[in-house]
Parts: sequence; structure tokens; C-alpha cells
Amino acid sequence: MGGGSISLPYLEHEAFGQVDPRMQIYGFMNDSEFAAECSRRGIKLFGIVFEVQGWEYPAVFDDQGHLVRMNERAEADSRCEWYGLREFSADLHRNAFPTQLHDFYPDGIRDEDGKEVKDLWEYCCSRDRFGAPIHARWVEVKGRKEQCYQMCRNNSVWRGYLKKIMEIQIDAGVPGIQLDECELPMTSINSGGCFCDSCMKQFTAWLKERRNAGLLGPEWDAIDLDTFHYGEYLKANGSDYPQGAPLFRDYWEFQVWQVRKYFRELADYAREYARTKHGRELLVSGNFYNMQPAYYPIEDKVDLVITEMEHTLFRQPYYYRYCEL
Ligand SMILES: [Zn+2]
Repeated sequence: MGGGSISLPYLEHEAFGQVDPRMQIYGFMNDSEFAAECSRRGIKLFGIVFEVQGWEYPAVFDDQGHLVRMNERAEADSRCEWYGLREFSADLHRNAFPTQLHDFYPDGIRDEDGKEVKDLWEYCCSRDRFGAPIHARWVEVKGRKEQCYQMCRNNSVWRGYLKKIMEIQIDAGVPGIQLDECELPMTSINSGGCFCDSCMKQFTAWLKERRNAGLLGPEWDAIDLDTFHYGEYLKANGSDYPQGAPLFRDYWEFQVWQVRKYFRELADYAREYARTKHGRELLVSGNFYNMQPAYYPIEDKVDLVITEMEHTLFRQPYYYRYCEL
């Protein structure tokens, strides 16, 4: 059930969609049926929320607007268009799946000020200091048109979307949820992010709190926080980023606090939703990747710590598989 990073109708289809009878002959089933079969056998299946990924795929539609082809084979078709978060939020291709935007957002997607968000992909992505979106290069296939942006959890609209992903997964019967890339948006820092509007506003607000509490170092003394924008500051000072960037230590600490705050918000939301809607307890885990210190403040919010190899060079998959209850 990872399709929420393409659209909610795509995920709904993974969870509850009709499986072609020809495929059922070979044992295929939808993911809610698969979750039930696993539970019956005592296997605790987790829904994975790929928090950082926001996808756009080449897609071909028939005359009625049904989605008939995606990805590589769509690329080769002269009728090729796009399908993903952008089209979902713009309420395009309404016949692509049985559900559509207004089944999940009756009033359309709204930001904190009530303004309509027509392009979820661009609105919620992580950006570098020049404003360009950050790509999730490790999941994109080189030489193909598909595109995956890294998304920013500090954006409340993206958190709202992630909550809807979890609702579908819980409705589909998963005993647990794993929040993948749970250090979001620190994931994007080594690629030059995150200077999205949400991060910049929240960083400045955090700095003001620190200044009022007397916790900022002397390097901040000459900086006017009413006009401060970290991305603009780095550009004006001609600095590289993140290695050697001025004021980076405070920026990093700010993000550690945001990880703590928003991971908790999502974990609490998922548990509460399972309790109130389905009367059951939900397990929650996060991908703690290489166990860097940024994960420590969220350890008490998970039932399982799950790690991941930083790279596959040494081919030691036993570390990847290790989980601690
Ligand atoms: Zn951000």
C-alpha cells in the first residue's frame, strides 16, 4: 500500500480495488484482502507511508478518461500525458480510478489560510535555496521520464495528506504503520534542501523563541530576525551548503525539533484514528535508517525500531533486516 505517493485514488485502488478474475486464478488479491490473510496467519502486516516521495508518472488515458497505461509503455505512446499528485490535486483525470479528489477532500485541498491548493506536488515539495524542487534520485530510474520530488513534512498540507494515507491503510486492516523516511525533511539536506516556505517561516519563528530564551550564540547578534531568511542569507554570503554553511548548526537543531514534533503528530493521529474508528490498537514504527542522533527524540513514539543500510556496497543485508521490539 505505497501508492499514496502517486495519489489517494491509486492507494484506494491498491487497498480495495477489484482484482481481475484472471489474476485471482493465480492467487492475486487486493491489499486489504492480503492484510486479512496475513492477520489470520498471525503475521502483522505494516502499511508503509513513503512520507518523502511525491510522484508523477507518464500515463495514457482512453476516450472515457480511464487510465490504461503508466510508466515505460506510456512513454512510448504518442497520447502520453501525466498522472500523479499534481493531476489528483487539480481534479484532472476524474475517471482514472473509481474515487477522485472530492471523495477525500470534499472542499478541495486547502492550506492553513483556507486557500485552495491546486498543485499538491509543487506546493509541498522540498526546495533548494534557489527555489528548485529536490528530487528523490534514489527511486527515480535514470533515462526515464518518471519524476519523484522529495516532499516536506513541515508543510501542514503535506501532513494532512499523509494522515489521509494512514486512514486508508488503517481502514484496510493493517495492524501497524511504518512511517518511512521519518527524519523528513532532513532527508533532503544533503541534496541542497530544505528551503521551502514552511521551513523558512518555522526556522525564523524558532530562532526568535531561542533569542528570547537567551539561547542563541553571538554569531546571531547582528542578524535582524524580522527580515531573516536562511536561504537568502546563504546566497548573499556566497556559501556552499550544507558543508561549511554558516549558522548550519542551529538550522540542523531546528530540524531535529521539527522531526520530533511532526513525527509525534502523525504517530498520535494514526493511533487515535485506529482507536476511535475501529476500536483497536495500532503498532507504529519508523525507518530509523543509520540511527543518527536525529532519531533519538522519536524513539519513545514507536513500537518497533527498524533500520536500513546506508548503502549496499558491503552487501550486509542482515543489518537491513534487523528490527527491535
Ligand atoms: Zn521544508
